[in-house]
Amino acid sequence: MNNNKKNFNAYFFVILGLMFLAAWMFRGLSGQETDYTKGELTENLEKGEVIEAVIQPNKETPTGVARIFLKSGEERTLYVTDIQGLEEELRSFGLDPQVRDIPRENWFMTSIFPILLVLVVGVFFFVMMNAQNSGGGGGSAKMMNFGKSRARLTLDNKVTLKDVAGLQEEKEELEEIINFLKEPGKFTKVGARIPKGVLLEGAPGTGKTLLAKAIAGEASVPFFSISGSDFVEMFVGVGASRVRDLFSDAKKHSPCIVFIDEIDAVARRRGTGMGGGHDEREQTLNQLLVEMDGFGVNEGIIVLAATNRVDILDPAILRPGRFDRKITVSAPDVKGRREILGVHSQNKPLAEDVNLEQIAQTTAGFTGADLENLMNEAAIHAAMDNRAFVKQEDIKKSFIKVGIGTEKKSRIISEKEKRITAYHEAGHAILFHVLPDVGPVYTVSIIPTGLGAAGYTMPLPEKDEMFLTKGKMLQEIMVSLGGRIAEEIIFDDITTGASSDIKKATKTARRMVTRYGMSDHIGVINYDDDDDEVFIGRDLAHAKSHSELIAGEIDQEVREIIGDCYGRAKAIIAEHEEILHRCAQMLLEKEKITRDEFESLFDKKQAGQEVSLEKI
Ligand code: ADP
Ligand code: MG
Ligand code: ZN
Repeated sequence: MNNNKKNFNAYFFVILGLMFLAAWMFRGLSGQETDYTKGELTENLEKGEVIEAVIQPNKETPTGVARIFLKSGEERTLYVTDIQGLEEELRSFGLDPQVRDIPRENWFMTSIFPILLVLVVGVFFFVMMNAQNSGGGGGSAKMMNFGKSRARLTLDNKVTLKDVAGLQEEKEELEEIINFLKEPGKFTKVGARIPKGVLLEGAPGTGKTLLAKAIAGEASVPFFSISGSDFVEMFVGVGASRVRDLFSDAKKHSPCIVFIDEIDAVARRRGTGMGGGHDEREQTLNQLLVEMDGFGVNEGIIVLAATNRVDILDPAILRPGRFDRKITVSAPDVKGRREILGVHSQNKPLAEDVNLEQIAQTTAGFTGADLENLMNEAAIHAAMDNRAFVKQEDIKKSFIKVGIGTEKKSRIISEKEKRITAYHEAGHAILFHVLPDVGPVYTVSIIPTGLGAAGYTMPLPEKDEMFLTKGKMLQEIMVSLGGRIAEEIIFDDITTGASSDIKKATKTARRMVTRYGMSDHIGVINYDDDDDEVFIGRDLAHAKSHSELIAGEIDQEVREIIGDCYGRAKAIIAEHEEILHRCAQMLLEKEKITRDEFESLFDKKQAGQEVSLEKI
């Protein structure tokens, strides 16, 4: 309420201001400055200095202005309150004042002009709002609906999961939501609780928006979509009232989906803004949280939100009963890319020489949006060439354009880089698998993450363990070093790609020595200068709690731990070189492999050995 009012007031004042301006202009146009008093006139008359007088009566009142011409050649303007009296006075001095006609109403200035002004102002706001609304299909922009949600409501959504290629895991995770939206009753009957909010996280262009739309289409429910930035306006309180409005609309259309794209625009961590004062955004976020807490679990509204910056989101939105489900939408692997290319070449006649498999293979790191763009560019290229079909050549040419386009240089990965990454990740993976206290491997991928990593090896989410053992920490160090070791074994050369691995290993080793008392030489003493503190001046403000001598010993000890782990890890990888090759090969083929696929490599090894034994 309050916010709505505030918001209304802001606009009210703008318009009021404009009206004052108009009034001021009127005054300037029809009024006249007076610079003469009745007393002065009488004086001049008595002295016989007045030659002529012209009286201009006003329209409605018996007042007016008189222009008095003096002997000296000067001209004065007098405000007259009693025209008849003035006339008589002038006559008594022998003058014959001219009295002009009462002016005809200046119909333009008094009636047309204000209307025109209001119209202009109105049109101005209307245009402004429509501009902000651009892309909106609804076109329901009413004047003064600033507090209305800007959400676009799509009722006849034709996008379904068929239009979303790849993203198999993501789709499976969303299955339950689709089922719920189709038949909420089935779930509520057995008292099942369905998540209220699902956060889709992933690099731009990976298909988050598409996926959200497809869910609504698949369940055939209304789809409200709004972008986080639509909430953030120049007027305080607009965001919050828009959120309120959005949810009250949504409730009327339940079951339905509310999709908030780029939620990071509103849901940034609160209270961290430089210099504080992001009141508006905080209010909006608070309102969003209030709304999400407010509607019942099974009211049939599911809020989907998308972001590519999950790291900057306010943790409050991830609490149970809000966005309690997070789905990572990842860049496609070869198979996914092949499927996406399929979807986007459906309405494009392809020449026989087009080999989508090959295109898929050479576009590692491309997102769905990049691939869509690629096919589109190719089609444009074909049209420019006056052809009605797309040739492989067109795609190849566009590949360079799309891949090298703004800020995407890193997207094109050379075969060699891919090979190195494959061996690097295979090195990590083997150690995860072989070492007893770490792993098992859940996925291995050589698809660039878009965050600077060329690939990743992910262990199964660990169980919560109270203690880290020394053995486990050493194994973790070994796993971290595995990538670099594999590069070294295979390529006889090393890359800069392992820098974060090395940092991680060093950090673990240092903690073992300075915090956990796990080194023989240094003993059970804490030399760790509470490095949990997030404070830039930390090292300057805190005196070291130990001497330079000890510092040297700590370094020595850390070096030994790392060296030791390196040696042991290298031995293990060398022993499994066969698997290393096979794993790298599999990665180069599939780009992303699952636990089962990875573990099958170890079975094959035995099978392979049997074969080779037979030969001997
Ligand atoms: P995001 O919201 O993650 O930034 P979008 O959903 O807006 O990405 O994707 C942009 C476009 O890229 C889509 O409209 C679609 O044409 C294409 N695209 C992305 N991912 C896929 C996919 N998995 N299958 C088919 N097309 C895709
Ligand atoms: Mg999007
Ligand atoms: Zn690594």
